Amino acid sequence: MTGGSLRSELLDSDIEAPCPNCEYPVWIRLVEVVAHCAVLCPACRCRIWLTDADGSVQNAATDIDNAVDDLTRQLGGMFR
Ligand SMILES: [Zn+2]
Repeated sequence: MTGGSLRSELLDSDIEAPCPNCEYPVWIRLVEVVAHCAVLCPACRCRIWLTDADGSVQNAATDIDNAVDDLTRQLGGMFR
C-alpha cells in the first residue's frame, strides 16, 4: 500500500500545458486538474478551465499515470 503516497506526491507536482488560446505554456498543478479548477494564462489572460476542452491536460495527466506505472514496475523488479 505504498502507491497512494507516490501518487499524491505527483498530484502536488506541476505540469506544463499549452494555453488553448495562444499556446503559451502554462504551469498547472496536477491537483488543480483533478479539482477541475481554472487557471489564468499569463500571456493572453484567457481563463483555462482544466476540464480539458482539447485533451492536452488529460494527455499530460495520462503521461503521469504511465510514469507511475513504469516506476511501480521498476521498483517491483528491483525488489524481486
Ligand atoms: Zn493564453
